[in-house]
Amino acid sequence: MIAIIGLGTGGLYAARWIAMHHRNEKITIIEKRDYETYSPCSIPMVVEGKIKPEDIVHPFPKSKNVEILLAHEAVDIDINSKKIKANDLKTGEVKEINYDKLIYAPGAKPWVPPIKGADKEGVFTVRTVEDAIAIREYAETANKALVVGAGAIGVEMAYALRKRGLEVTIVEMMEHAFPTAIDKDMAKYVDERLNKEGISTIYGAKVEALIGTEKVEGAIINGDELNFDIVIMSTGVRPESALLRGKVDVDERGFILVDEKMRTSIDDVYAIGDCVRTPYGVIQLATTALNQAIVAAINATGGSAVLKKPNGAFVSAFGDYEVASVGTHGKIAGRGWSRLNPYSVEKIVMKVFIEEDGTIVGAQAVGKGASSRIDIVSALMRNKGKIWDLAYMEKSYCPEVCELYDVIKIAAENAMRRLKIEKYEV
Ligand SMILES: Cc1cc2nc3c(=O)[nH]c(=O)nc-3n(C[C@H](O)[C@H](O)[C@H](O)COP(=O)(O)OP(=O)(O)OC[C@H]3O[C@@H](n4cnc5c(N)ncnc54)[C@H](O)[C@@H]3O)c2cc1C
Repeated sequence: MIAIIGLGTGGLYAARWIAMHHRNEKITIIEKRDYETYSPCSIPMVVEGKIKPEDIVHPFPKSKNVEILLAHEAVDIDINSKKIKANDLKTGEVKEINYDKLIYAPGAKPWVPPIKGADKEGVFTVRTVEDAIAIREYAETANKALVVGAGAIGVEMAYALRKRGLEVTIVEMMEHAFPTAIDKDMAKYVDERLNKEGISTIYGAKVEALIGTEKVEGAIINGDELNFDIVIMSTGVRPESALLRGKVDVDERGFILVDEKMRTSIDDVYAIGDCVRTPYGVIQLATTALNQAIVAAINATGGSAVLKKPNGAFVSAFGDYEVASVGTHGKIAGRGWSRLNPYSVEKIVMKVFIEEDGTIVGAQAVGKGASSRIDIVSALMRNKGKIWDLAYMEKSYCPEVCELYDVIKIAAENAMRRLKIEKYEV
């Protein structure tokens, strides 16, 4: 009997893997929302109006041994008797759910810095379908939006609101957009595109206060008072680890510590997704939650799986413009650009990082098609690929979609030029 707390990305894929591979295993999923799975990553598209809220909600595939308790909030876990207490949010009844193995996957919650006025009407965080609907409705009568934070969620939300016709400003305390994913020299292209879309950006600045009576009417940024009538706070998330605190090992920020088998410090309790720190660190992405879910599902059902070091492959997109990265910086960098295709004026720019023995350790790319280049690098990195594997890979070509001498080859060759190679195998 396996219990899963949270039917988000991690919980969904753990349950799905177990239901597919161990059809007789009984699974109970406890989820506080009253609808089944949804795609948080698609919220900006809902706000933009490209898709409807109901499009991003998907039912869990029917499986006879999977019981899904929707609108049930887990409120206590007794790790000795292996029982979970869950409140039925519709009836108020408290239920007890037994487990042999527990997969804990409650995700993270938005974090808002202590800014005066952040509790005013018209100030939103972004996580659920309800947030998407509320923002969309509020934006109908708003004119000027402030987005705080220029990470993926901030930039995607800024673009969505701009497409709805609002004037949009992004404020970011770091020096450029996507500060954890790309370098300043790459971010300058992103900024050019944001500005072309009509989105203003302010970097190296903090929001000191949000002002207004009940509703937000503006913000003080670097001492200047600016008018806004809707504010999106995309300032990070904190792990939802409360139910296991004091019971399993957590770090100083509240992330649950797990090993490479996704085991917590106590037997039979696995944790996955946005609430964990693995031996490789914290990565809060759907892609990471998915791989962690499969590892936990295999181990919880008697198999043996370990999580390899993730590369942190990342992409964010606004319109058809992509910002992608993988891995880290290396000692040597190679840079390059090519057009999207031989007849296009649009560019894709890429940077590849290697060590002195040619091992690829990371890459960054911006422009349409950036993610497909980063995925190639990510796949090679999984087996410690070398830069010549990238420079001389056989990349498919058709002028409709790319250049023959593609940015990926140009950037890789530029990195290779710095190595003393005696014989080339092309
Ligand atoms: C707007 C937005 C855009 C994003 N875009 C991307 C993207 O493009 N690419 C990408 O890789 N990642 C993206 N992410 C991040 C990605 O969604 C998360 O990393 C991923 O969903 C984490 O999975 P999880 O299972 O840990 O948590 P979640 O998917 O958040 O699921 C946790 C679930 O647990 C439930 N829960 C919590 N506490 C309890 C409780 N006590 N009892 C019962 N249920 C509980 C919650 O209701 C929730 O459904 C985005 C996130 C957001 C918010």
